[in-house]
Amino acid sequence: MGWQLKIGRAAGVDVFVHWTFIFAPIYVIYSCWSTGWATIGVMLVLLLCFFACVLLHEYGHAMAARCFGITTQDIIITPIGGLARLVGMSRHHPGQEFLIALAGPLVNLVLGALFLVYLLATGQSLEPSGVSAFPQILFWANLALFLFNLIPAFPMDGGRILRSFLAIFMSHRWATLVAGNLGRVLAILLVVTGFYWGEFPFILIGLFVFFAATSEIEYTRELPESDSLV
Ligand SMILES: [Zn+2]
Repeated sequence: MGWQLKIGRAAGVDVFVHWTFIFAPIYVIYSCWSTGWATIGVMLVLLLCFFACVLLHEYGHAMAARCFGITTQDIIITPIGGLARLVGMSRHHPGQEFLIALAGPLVNLVLGALFLVYLLATGQSLEPSGVSAFPQILFWANLALFLFNLIPAFPMDGGRILRSFLAIFMSHRWATLVAGNLGRVLAILLVVTGFYWGEFPFILIGLFVFFAATSEIEYTRELPESDSLV
C-alpha cells in the first residue's frame, strides 16, 4: 500500500499510518486557517481522538476475526478511514464475514453509548457548544461512524454485511457481484453528495469505494464459479 509508518503494536497487531494521512491535518489547518492557531490546535487534538475511535473500530474487526482463528496482518490508518488486513478468511462462512464486518461499527456504537452515558450523568447538553466540547463531538462522531459504516456500499462494512446476507441465497460469486455493483452506485451517489455539500472527504471515500468495488468485482469475475475468494 505504499509507504507507511509503524506507530505501535497492540494485542499482537501492528498499526501503521499511511503516508497520505498527512493530508488529514493539512485539511484541518486549511479549513480552520481563519480561526487562529488556538482553534487549529484544538481541532488537531480532536482529529487524533477521532482517529483513535477509527483505530478501535478496526480492532473490533481484528478481535472478532481472531475469535474465528483469522489473523490480522496489520491495521493501516488512512485519511479516509482504517483498514484491518485479515489473512485467510474463508468464503464458505458468510456468518463469519457478517460478524467480523459488524464488530467494527459495534465498537463505535459502544463508544457513542459511553459518551452519551457520561453526558447524561454529568447533566450536560448533547449539543456541541464549540470545538472544545469533546464528549459531545465524539458522541456524535461515533454515532456517525456507526451509521456511515453500515451504508451497504461494498466493500465498506455495510456492503460486507449485505454480501454475507446475500450469500445465504446465492453463490459467493453472485453475492459479490450484486453487493459490488450496489456499492458502485452508492459510491457515485457519495461523490455527487460530496460535490453538492462541498465535503471533500465524501468525494474521496466515494472514489475509493468505487474503485475498490470495481476491483473486487473484476477479481471475482475472473474466478471460476466454484472458487471465488473473499
Ligand atoms: Zn470497518
